[in-house]
Amino acid sequence: MLNARDAEARGAQILIHCQVISAARKGDLWHIETEQGQFTAHNLVNAGGPWVADILSGVLRQNSKAGIRLVRGSHIVTPRLYDHDKCYFFQGTDGRITFAIPYEQDFTLIGTTDAEHNDLGVKPVISDVERDYLCNFASEYFKKPVTPDDVVWTYSGVRPLYDDGAASATAATRDYVLDLDTNGAPLLSVFGGKITTYRKLAQQVLAKLKLGEDWTAEVPLPGGDFPVDGVGALIDELLGDFAFLDPKWAARLVRAYGTEARKWLGDAATAADLGQDFGATLTEAELRWMMAHEFAVTAEDAVWRRTKLGLRLDKSQTEAIDVWMAKEGQKP
Ligand SMILES: Cc1cc2nc3c(=O)[nH]c(=O)nc-3n(C[C@H](O)[C@H](O)[C@H](O)COP(=O)(O)OP(=O)(O)OC[C@H]3O[C@@H](n4cnc5c(N)ncnc54)[C@H](O)[C@@H]3O)c2cc1C
Repeated sequence: MLNARDAEARGAQILIHCQVISAARKGDLWHIETEQGQFTAHNLVNAGGPWVADILSGVLRQNSKAGIRLVRGSHIVTPRLYDHDKCYFFQGTDGRITFAIPYEQDFTLIGTTDAEHNDLGVKPVISDVERDYLCNFASEYFKKPVTPDDVVWTYSGVRPLYDDGAASATAATRDYVLDLDTNGAPLLSVFGGKITTYRKLAQQVLAKLKLGEDWTAEVPLPGGDFPVDGVGALIDELLGDFAFLDPKWAARLVRAYGTEARKWLGDAATAADLGQDFGATLTEAELRWMMAHEFAVTAEDAVWRRTKLGLRLDKSQTEAIDVWMAKEGQKP
């Protein structure tokens, strides 16, 4: 989301909830039809993640040699299992590693699994086998066993791994592969990738397309314009300027918004100045910021994709956020 905002500020047009329906080469250009209009482009990048191969065959009608392997990875979240801020990596007898990471202040995140997931029409959800696997794996290492009853939330995703012919999902390469087709206007497809290396990947995409210089290495995303070791100082500054915040609240805001937190805290002198608190310190002012600047439309965007405050909110609180956002979204 921050990357999309950054791109928008530099002139990109961002269309959310907008499917590319078809695209075809005509002369030196791609003619692209989307749910929100038609576009032309000299270059087309297919960064469809798990859908990259479906887009190649279905949307672009290309015959590609490149294959994709869809491997589900699931995570479990438990109440905090230990009281320091380090991560653990665990080695299993099956040759895999898993991790336990401090998560959202009061929780521990344990992951992941490798499970074949061949139907993208099926929402990826953790299976009981995966959940038990992670609990047992972690229990080998923690003094107190981790049981399914400890699990407060789970999430799963599908890795689009380049099919290098490996025998098992675990052995398939985690490296990304950029496939450039110059049979007419260039088409570049991205297979695999990591969030941690996305800027390198993007630079290599532009280099392959002979577009632009590398410039992102030292450039922060919106709100990230402070020193790497400056989180504590930023939290202290917020606590000094907004006396109604408590340390946990301020830490959450700095982690989510960095220097931009004060943009929507504005000149609030009391918590009430931020409007209704929907629970877990999520207020109208924060929701307004997400809706105006961060493409948030529904409560799910706000409490799961953006903040993970869903871990602390019950169903009725989330429903109240949905109702408020729907009303707010209709305002001119
Ligand atoms: C279980 C799991 C664990 C991971 N762990 C890590 C980790 O620890 N560290 C790390 O760095 N990375 C991790 N990753 C990888 C990371 O999530 C991905 O590299 C990253 O999300 C890839 O981003 P992307 O934009 O390329 O693809 P995606 O985030 O998959 O985005 C692709 C987008 O294309 C859209 N799309 C599809 N078809 C169309 C169409 N026809 N028109 C328009 N849009 C379309 C989809 O809606 C989607 O939004 C993990 C991934 C998984 C699944």
